[in-house]
Amino acid sequence: MNITHGIPVAPGIAIAPAFVLDQTRERIARDRVAPEACQEEVEALNRAIAAAVESVQADRHRVEQDLSPEAAQIFDVHLGLLRDDALLQPVRDRILSDGVTAAWAVSDAFHRLAEQFRSMGSAVFRDKARDILDLERRVLDELLGRTRARLAQVSEPVVLLAHELTPADAASLTVDLVRAVVTEAGGRTDHASIVAAALGVPVVVGCGDLVGDLQDGDPVIVDGTRGRVVIRADDEVMAKYRRRLEEQERFRASVPRIGRTRTACGVDIQLLGNIEFVREVDTLKEVGGDGVGLYRTEFSYLTSDTEPDEDALYEMYSSALKALDGKPLTLRTLDLGADKYTQAMKIEPERNPFLGLRSIRHSLQNLGMFRRQLRAILRASPHGSLRVMFPLVTTVGEFRQAKMMLLDVAEELRDEGHEVARDIPIGMMVEVPSAAIMAATFARAADFFSIGTNDLIQYTVAVDRGNERVASLYTASSPAVLRLVKTVVRAAQRRKVPVSLCGECAGDINYTMLLLGLGLRSLSLVPALIPRVREVIRRVSLEDCERLARRVGSMDSERRIGLLLRNELLRVLPEIDDEDVDDIG
Ligand code: PEP
Ligand code: MG
Repeated sequence: MNITHGIPVAPGIAIAPAFVLDQTRERIARDRVAPEACQEEVEALNRAIAAAVESVQADRHRVEQDLSPEAAQIFDVHLGLLRDDALLQPVRDRILSDGVTAAWAVSDAFHRLAEQFRSMGSAVFRDKARDILDLERRVLDELLGRTRARLAQVSEPVVLLAHELTPADAASLTVDLVRAVVTEAGGRTDHASIVAAALGVPVVVGCGDLVGDLQDGDPVIVDGTRGRVVIRADDEVMAKYRRRLEEQERFRASVPRIGRTRTACGVDIQLLGNIEFVREVDTLKEVGGDGVGLYRTEFSYLTSDTEPDEDALYEMYSSALKALDGKPLTLRTLDLGADKYTQAMKIEPERNPFLGLRSIRHSLQNLGMFRRQLRAILRASPHGSLRVMFPLVTTVGEFRQAKMMLLDVAEELRDEGHEVARDIPIGMMVEVPSAAIMAATFARAADFFSIGTNDLIQYTVAVDRGNERVASLYTASSPAVLRLVKTVVRAAQRRKVPVSLCGECAGDINYTMLLLGLGLRSLSLVPALIPRVREVIRRVSLEDCERLARRVGSMDSERRIGLLLRNELLRVLPEIDDEDVDDIG
């Protein structure tokens, strides 16, 4: 039995045989070919590239159908590389001049290029290196006639394990048969993690060495809640987890998918969804969500080499608004930078990107791009109930500047004869300590707040949210973070500014009672998690929640707060008691 810990990205338990994605990657030997055979090698290479283009296009098409047009754009980067003669012509020349096999020439060229990107020392180049190695694998698969271990060929449920996933790999996953995703590398907010989590299965990343010790078919337990992966579990551990899994499924089946979200004492709570793709509105409707509390719009900018044009964005935003049938869509303007880099931004890496040109700062320094997004947003506004919010606001001046820009663009559009909705609420993410501490001041300027605990935690306790080495220090149970949340909610209540919370802890049932107790009446979370959170809300009274919040407020240890929250949850939801797996290791 081998127990490994990683970063929990999506909760739940899965048990299934291993499917190791990287198995087919072996080093290619430097074999020589006779001079008269070189031309045939070049032709074989050309055929392999053409076949690889076809296979990428097929993946692109499937992802467009299954996931979204935005996700499908990931593959455009690959297609661009496969058609790039500056990359491929030297490979052909090498075969002819050095008399080496096409396979070795491809492998050598792609590895060198990937290494160049890696050695640039910045995390932002790693994505590019991964794309290049992914392509190497595709071309070699064609060239050597080996079957790529594609998930399309999987015929039974599996746990997918890989050293790391490219966003393209993640987007190609066959949802029905992949019961969980585990990677050795990667952070919680990598693109690949975001796409994998959208599948609704348990996901654990950043596990360190794992795959080398594994064979396809080995039994694997994935505990996405604890970030634990158990390989070849002994009978006792397997029996405990099988019981857990059965209970998880029983609980899931017993919780109503839709219905009113009202506390036991009769207070209505709003449950909104966090989405990255328009298609997720379907899931949100299936679980009776009250609207979208966070639409992360940056994804369509990340998956393409070029900025999406205004009309394409307009179509996307309009279709989201229409799909929501009048329920609110809280659209967050571009949150680029930090770990979310466009192809263009990758060219000039920053030394400290989380404290650098990110989010609203990036938009305010790239006004052309910002205006184009705002035009698309505002043109879409008549199609539904739109709210706009700005990410990572740190000063009131910044918020006013962004708001002014939005009003200016609205005027410009009306002058051009476009219809633009009146009185669109303009709000902000509260996700840095400066905004939380000054919430009372911000409340005079903003129409609503959305508390982003994902970033608020990392900026308050100085812990990188995507770094597996400090993952244990990253927790919403931090007394400092909770105090900031309370400050924001109080300021909002005093000024009658609507406030919601959209960090990942909104979807973690351990925090539901505390968040209500702190005064929140609106939460925004991964749509698939709404039924569980609703169930907790239905069973609790605000009086109990407030009492819990007071107790937590007097505590000074993250660990003790975490334990108290867990115990309270088990009191109201005894059927999820999974203490038996807590001490496994
Ligand atoms: C947050 O920071 O809490 C948040 C919801 O935004 P993101 O995860 O996109 O940074
Ligand atoms: Mg954030």
